[in-house]
Amino acid sequence: MTTTVGVVRETAAGERRVALTPDGVQRLRALGLEVRVEAGAGEGAFLPDADYAAAGAVLDTRAKVYADSDVLVCVHPPGDVEALRPGRTLVGLLFPVTDPGLTRRLAEAKITAVSLDLLPRTLSRAQAMDALTSQAAVAGYKAALVAAAAYAGYFPMLMTAAGTTRPAQVLVLGAGVAGLQAIATSRRLGAVVTGYDIRPAAHADIASTGATVLELPDPGGTGEGGAGEGGYARRLTDAEALAQRQALDAAIARFDIVITTAQVPGRPPPLLVSADALEAMRPGSVVVDLAAGALGGNVAGSEPGGTVVTGRGVTLIGAADLAATVPAAASTAYARNLCALLPGLLRDGVVTVDLDDEIQAAVVVTHDGDIVNPRARAAAEEESGS
Ligand code: NAD
Repeated sequence: MTTTVGVVRETAAGERRVALTPDGVQRLRALGLEVRVEAGAGEGAFLPDADYAAAGAVLDTRAKVYADSDVLVCVHPPGDVEALRPGRTLVGLLFPVTDPGLTRRLAEAKITAVSLDLLPRTLSRAQAMDALTSQAAVAGYKAALVAAAAYAGYFPMLMTAAGTTRPAQVLVLGAGVAGLQAIATSRRLGAVVTGYDIRPAAHADIASTGATVLELPDPGGTGEGGAGEGGYARRLTDAEALAQRQALDAAIARFDIVITTAQVPGRPPPLLVSADALEAMRPGSVVVDLAAGALGGNVAGSEPGGTVVTGRGVTLIGAADLAATVPAAASTAYARNLCALLPGLLRDGVVTVDLDDEIQAAVVVTHDGDIVNPRARAAAEEESGS
């Protein structure tokens, strides 16, 4: 039996990525898989149907792609996911820990769901599959460009006959994948960049980019800062968070640009830039909040997907989905991640769930009507109050 992988057009508002590129089609064909693509699926990323066909995919209607696919790949879970037949597999960024309703729907529909955001990121053989990293890197890069475009001044120091401009002072809060890329891109644009993170280990990463590290008092006073499990940050206590915000309030006023990227897995993002801090910034300053989304954001008053100019003239940009605005690069990287993951789900060319496999045990969310991932199950049980 030949396994067929399908890709449909993403339907989320503003989403221009596609889960599989023509290059990805070729890679899957080389593994002996069939590929079905909904006509127009790559349009938003400037990937024409003809390129998919030339790579060996069959172009079809959405309904036919659903009907024929053993494995459907996506960026976001499609709203019409139940069109996938029981026993089929869905692979994408499903975020089951923060979307337990979707997890339950997938279990009830007897779909085997595989979520890339649950990948164990420090496992070296999983690095090529790491879609959170590939997409965060794109978002961090774009955040610096968005900030530069909205800023009323120059990023670099320019010496011209009309005088010398001072370089913009940029502060990046949260120095994980997106933050480090925002730091690197801001530096390439010529700004003077400072980075900050709650994890002490991130300070060496900031310094390695050539940026200055903003040193604030260590929450908890143990030297561990806000480091949590698996290389992620932990949620600070209310008292620690307040102390951090007060320290940041005092530091932020001297910056022209603040780019925030702070996240705590499975939790609302921490509030780092308060209304007081915004009030103290110079008119014309720009704050880009990559964490702005349904669960909140890092900046007081930022709106997901929106731009707000405060009474004082500070521009707040709520920019949670920036990877979607660099669709060709983001789709190419995402498709590579999928093509690295998919072979590990197959035995003799057929999807075979094996929860003894370390990667599968982490990423398989639902199978055969059950929620098999412990974190997804705990989130679903917590929501239903059982
Ligand atoms: P993330 O998106 O979860 O969070 C972004 C950053 O926000 C993190 O650096 C986090 O420490 C920081 N943060 C959270 N709360 C904060 C607060 N209150 N104040 C300031 N900063 C705060 O993180 P990520 O980019 O997904 O990276 C998470 C970890 O995974 C990092 O340790 C990263 O180096 C690691 N990682 C490892 C690999 C690998 O080994 N291949 C790949 C990707 C990421």
